Amino acid sequence: MHELSVALGIVKIAENETAKAKAKTVELIELEIGTLAGIEFESLDFVWPSAVKDTVLENAVKKIDIIKAKAKCVDCDAIFEIENVYDSCPICSSFFKNILQGKELKVKALEVS
Ligand SMILES: [Zn+2]
Repeated sequence: MHELSVALGIVKIAENETAKAKAKTVELIELEIGTLAGIEFESLDFVWPSAVKDTVLENAVKKIDIIKAKAKCVDCDAIFEIENVYDSCPICSSFFKNILQGKELKVKALEVS
């Protein structure tokens, strides 16, 4: 499952950061995930407990900031929220746009102790 490898990647980052900070455990982890990042939030929640078992993240509180995808129309400069990359501009129906945000997938903050 894709989300499992994502979760394991997050564990790796958390372990590196915890080691750097000479800490033992993570109290809180804050993730930033865009709606176009290709992550199913329910699947991530589902695999999370097994991914973090026996790691520094085992008892960490997980907080997810969901970044709603936004795009800017190339033809009329309208900025609009999109559900998927194929959405057209609601103003002029153009399919040409620049994605402004929504592909984020990163660890925003870690609290270690
Ligand atoms: Zn437009």
